Amino acid sequence: LTQLLCKAGDRGSDCAPLVPPPLPQASLEELAQALTRKEFVPYFQPKVAMQTGHLKGVEALVRWNHPERGLLAPAHFIDTLEGHPLMADFTIDMVQQVLERILDWQSHGLPPLTVSVNLSADNLADRSFIDRLIAQISASGVKPASLVWEVTETSVMRQLSQALTNMGRLRLMGFGLAMDDFGIGYSSMQQFARCPFTELKIDRAFVNGAAQWPNRHMVLKSALDLGQSLGVATVAEGVETVEDWKLLRDLGCDMAQGYLLAKPMPAEDLVGWIRQDRRRLRALAGDE
Ligand code: C2E
Ligand code: MG
Ligand code: MG
Ligand code: MG
Repeated sequence: LTQLLCKAGDRGSDCAPLVPPPLPQASLEELAQALTRKEFVPYFQPKVAMQTGHLKGVEALVRWNHPERGLLAPAHFIDTLEGHPLMADFTIDMVQQVLERILDWQSHGLPPLTVSVNLSADNLADRSFIDRLIAQISASGVKPASLVWEVTETSVMRQLSQALTNMGRLRLMGFGLAMDDFGIGYSSMQQFARCPFTELKIDRAFVNGAAQWPNRHMVLKSALDLGQSLGVATVAEGVETVEDWKLLRDLGCDMAQGYLLAKPMPAEDLVGWIRQDRRRLRALAGDE
């Protein structure tokens, strides 16, 4: 898909931002300490149905509440965790906080939401991690259908057979499974069809600014058609403008996530956001 877009030549710079330069990474020692000190917190970004404007779910995105540097995005530290046993403990900690939030939102009478959590390549390939995860959720009383695991194509491909086994286990338990960042990997279509996904998230490299570039519409349309023909929900990532929203909605995309709707926010802001933005979202779903 990336190659197609670059060939389509609608904007030379389309190819550049797909691989951003790496940021300086925190050390493992710092990260281990941050985990002990409970400095990692999930922020939540809404995912909205494009036909109705209803909130369908939220994605949990980690932020490091750094004592000196303030709130840090995952680009500052997530790569360091990969390949280290700390990654398993990190994800279990995130999931624990997510589970507590789900129970809390339920007690506040929020409509049922699914919460999506990103799993790393390590997590996905690790049988004992998946055992821990399943035990953790069973103990919480949260239903598996309330959770969606997001994995990237690169993570799946890193250790394909383990990933396929673990994805199969998670699906069998009733969890949702999303392919994240769809379109920026290789042989996406073929790999996608082999995996038991319930959701396909189109990378924001294809979504962002799409309305301005007619060449992209067919590419988006084929990704959405693929999702539809496989019977999975389609999500557009990185919707920032009303024009892109309308394009995606008219192309038949099921859900949208992006700054147009909301940036990732602390859990306690979500209830207020739902109340405030209901009318705006309904207007977006309609035609004006
Ligand atoms: P992702 O899972 O693809 O998450 C979407 C990213 O796009 C988030 O960045 C989100 O803040 C950003 N985003 C959403 N809407 C827009 C938009 O309209 N415009 C722009 N420019 N950006 C938008 P974030 O939070 O910095 O996370 C980056 C990546 O870090 C995530 O990409 C995911 O791969 C990883 N990540 C985040 N949280 C976790 C976690 O708890 N565990 C693991 N393993 N990875 C995580
Ligand atoms: Mg994600
Ligand atoms: Mg993504
Ligand atoms: Mg991403």
